[in-house]
Amino acid sequence: MTVYNPKEIEKQVLEAWEKKKIPEQIVKFSKEKKKFYLLDGPPYVNAEPHVGHVKTTTFKDIWGKFKHMQGYAVWFQPGFDCGGLPIENMVEKKLGLKSKTEIEKIGVDKFIGECNNFAIGNEKTWLDIYRILGAWRGWLKPYLTSENYYIESGWWTVKKIYEKGLLVEGEKPGFWCSHCETVLAGYEVTDSYKNIEDHSIFVKFPLAGKKEFLLVWTTTPWTLPANVAICVHPEEQYVKAEVKKENKKETEVLILAEKRLKLLDELGTKYKILEKFQGKKLEGEKYLPILDIPLQKEIEKNENSHTIIISIPLLKKRVASKIATKKAAEAEEEFGHVVEMETGSGLVHVAPGHGDVDNKLGKHYNLPEPSPVDEKGRLTEETGEFAGKYVKDANFAIIDYLNTKGHMFYPGKVVHSYPLCWRCKTPLIYRMSKQWFLKIDTLKKSMIKENEKVRWLPEFARERFYNILIDAPDWPITRQRYWGIPIPIWVCDKCGARKVIGSVEELKKEALDKIPANMDLHKNSIDKIHIRCECGGKMKRVRDIMDVWFDSSISPWASLGYPFKNKSLFEHLWPVDLIDESQDQVRGWFYYLMFAGFATFEHKPYNTACLNGWTLDEKGEKMSKSLGNVVWADAALKELGSDTLRLYYCYDVSPWDTQKFSLKNAKELQKTLNILWNTYQFIETYSDKKLLKSNITGLFPEDKWLLSRINTLIKKVTEDMENFAFHSVGRSLVDFILNDFSRWYVKLVRDRVSPWYDGKDKKAAQYALVYTLEKLLRLLAPIAPFISDYLYQKLGFVSVHISSWPKTEEKVINTKLEEEMEKVKILTEAMNSMRQEENIKLRWPLAAVYIQAKDKTTASAVKNLRNVIQNIGNVKKITTTLPEKGKTKIKIKEFEGFKLGLGKVLKEEAFIREVIRQIQVMRKEHRLHVKELITLWLHTDEKTKALLMKRTNELKSEVGAKTIHFTSKNIKGKIELEGKTIEVGFEKAEK
Ligand SMILES: [Zn+2]
Ligand SMILES: [Zn+2]
Repeated sequence: MTVYNPKEIEKQVLEAWEKKKIPEQIVKFSKEKKKFYLLDGPPYVNAEPHVGHVKTTTFKDIWGKFKHMQGYAVWFQPGFDCGGLPIENMVEKKLGLKSKTEIEKIGVDKFIGECNNFAIGNEKTWLDIYRILGAWRGWLKPYLTSENYYIESGWWTVKKIYEKGLLVEGEKPGFWCSHCETVLAGYEVTDSYKNIEDHSIFVKFPLAGKKEFLLVWTTTPWTLPANVAICVHPEEQYVKAEVKKENKKETEVLILAEKRLKLLDELGTKYKILEKFQGKKLEGEKYLPILDIPLQKEIEKNENSHTIIISIPLLKKRVASKIATKKAAEAEEEFGHVVEMETGSGLVHVAPGHGDVDNKLGKHYNLPEPSPVDEKGRLTEETGEFAGKYVKDANFAIIDYLNTKGHMFYPGKVVHSYPLCWRCKTPLIYRMSKQWFLKIDTLKKSMIKENEKVRWLPEFARERFYNILIDAPDWPITRQRYWGIPIPIWVCDKCGARKVIGSVEELKKEALDKIPANMDLHKNSIDKIHIRCECGGKMKRVRDIMDVWFDSSISPWASLGYPFKNKSLFEHLWPVDLIDESQDQVRGWFYYLMFAGFATFEHKPYNTACLNGWTLDEKGEKMSKSLGNVVWADAALKELGSDTLRLYYCYDVSPWDTQKFSLKNAKELQKTLNILWNTYQFIETYSDKKLLKSNITGLFPEDKWLLSRINTLIKKVTEDMENFAFHSVGRSLVDFILNDFSRWYVKLVRDRVSPWYDGKDKKAAQYALVYTLEKLLRLLAPIAPFISDYLYQKLGFVSVHISSWPKTEEKVINTKLEEEMEKVKILTEAMNSMRQEENIKLRWPLAAVYIQAKDKTTASAVKNLRNVIQNIGNVKKITTTLPEKGKTKIKIKEFEGFKLGLGKVLKEEAFIREVIRQIQVMRKEHRLHVKELITLWLHTDEKTKALLMKRTNELKSEVGAKTIHFTSKNIKGKIELEGKTIEVGFEKAEK
């Protein structure tokens, strides 16, 4: 291969890996070496991998490759999340099932069997991508959260936390999906707010013993049966406003916030203000219920109820993190008074059984928490005439009722942000339900302390995590569903005793029913097993499964089957050394890992946690299937190849910043790899890999400079790698390849490594080239595993990936020299720009250049790197004093650090240079190898011939001619230059 062909390289490297069993050697875990437990946050197995997923995989793989090269035994195992509602949802769709009742009808056995079919086998899609990407995890058997060993490990965990008193049963309010008939955890809700149209009604509650009405606003009429209090803002001004009733004859008095009077204006209601007062004056006033139903009568009995309460500042809502990104803002948290002045009437209906904020208020004021809604979202018996109605229908029935009874002031509509079930899109309701909870209160303080010991990359994530911990509620850990880890708790029919089972062995001992060998541990089989109770009764399993977050939260040990399998391995690996996932996992996996890990082992489960930014489309829009703007993993890999894609992730933005993914920009980076490829071709042609093992002396300043540069680069890249500054690594490497190695050093030493040159300094340049290339490839290996390995193998090694991470040779680093070379770059750039202004081609040699240094570094650069300046600048001489004013036409220009003037062009030499260049082009066209000598025939007029003859030696060595004849033979082309014509002929010289 002479041209860079990424596809071919990747194919050949994969074949070489297979042949030499390289990945197998690397993923084989050895207890002899220092361990590095890299835990894979399991992606959801049925997801289709897109470039966001590949980014996470790439970063994790870079960590693994880097640590492996540093000498660690890295635990690379991948994992997949196979449980939970998304799979149930797909199965429901496939089987055309619309509710839990219908699932029960076709049978839980069949349903779970289908779920299993959906979950298993999809991991192959992912593993294929991992391999194409060159990620080592692709060569291991993954852990699947739906397998028996995983479930059994989950049972062991449940028993452990139960025995510590952390797992309790209780009634708690929470978001509930009436279609899925299950509670949802906070995390599942924060990301699923959507704008929907809802009711927005203003209702009149009569004040007890007065002919005045509280104008109260609500967007959920179905929660009015559970009204317990009305809330006002303590400091805001409220008014009593006299308004005409609908019949236009009588008047009535309404109480509302002064700032909300515009509501009356908007409705065209004329009013007269009778009185103004602060909201807190209303505190404690009693009002009368507006619905004549049993529940309201019951609530009436509580002395705290049906009273006006004062609003308190609360954490009201977390703006969904994904939505926040769309708005190009960080996730926000909204603190504030429950009562706002932007909407409504300034008086808020409070139903502590039906809302998060309401519930906090209810707790604060010690109010009852009625929640008269069943699991299907229907109002219950206590709501009298509304009983049995689904909440949406109850809205209309209640509005009708209020209209008829004269309690309605205005029934309107509003579009607002409301949480929907992330899986079935049903608007969620807030209700009380019986759940098992993992209690946080006794753990919180210690978890916050543990967080201090975690290394967060970037550091700002620590505070984000802290804010989540400080506000974290108990974890409702059960779901009323089918496909997941069954909670291993059995309850006695007769005496209510409970038993928690921590292993299959234990279940076998306690079971009344026979347990078949290799029984699948999912709900359908387990529910058939009964346990004997000490009272003689029969114990039945609690029908719930665990929240799917529980599955992934126990992955540090469940992935190994601990404690039933790999016991000593887990003890060796624990705790996890590093996790690296997308930033939404701070509230997701990172949080649940900490919760479950700490609850189980009283220790932080991970040492380092890295956060990746979002991957959006080119325009900064969230990628979504419905918008059709998703860049799928296989498409990107096909278009770019793995090396370029990986390099792009490590170049474009920092790992934790939002990336606007652009295939076009990524493609640009391929040019760098192409230049690396060409540099390699140059080195292969002009240098010698055997020199790697030799000790070369007589290095020129530029050689010393290159050696210093690569060692400085090793230092910087290593530091950036450790700090997750992968973008900085990528940029440093690209910059080095382009600006130091290829476009600078290679250019500088072209003549010194020419096959026809035999100076003492030749070997030094050849050595610097291979020395640098070898180190560079090792630095590049984690990011671009294919091209680096391809070239490394060409240097005669087995594989770059089983080589070690390069160490900085401190003694070679010469910072002063590096600074001087930077000056030289600036100097020669200035010379080039002056050449351009004066229309002097770079190929034309200058007799001299005048440089007057104005600072120390420039002065020493000119002194020490004189040859480099002459070489790159194509000048014969450097004069450090400027020509006297008036005595010359030489233009002097001022730059930062120096003054510069160009001497005259050496015409004759310029002519020769051009001839040489054109002959070289002809040689190339005739596919002559650079090392092949030629016999050259030149035919031209006498004057030109005389000029050429004067320079025969230069001509010979530059174009690789053994002999030159000044006659016409074997004509290959013609050179037309400054009015002269030279016929050029050549053929391969005899050896
Ligand atoms: Zn749902
Ligand atoms: Zn019992």
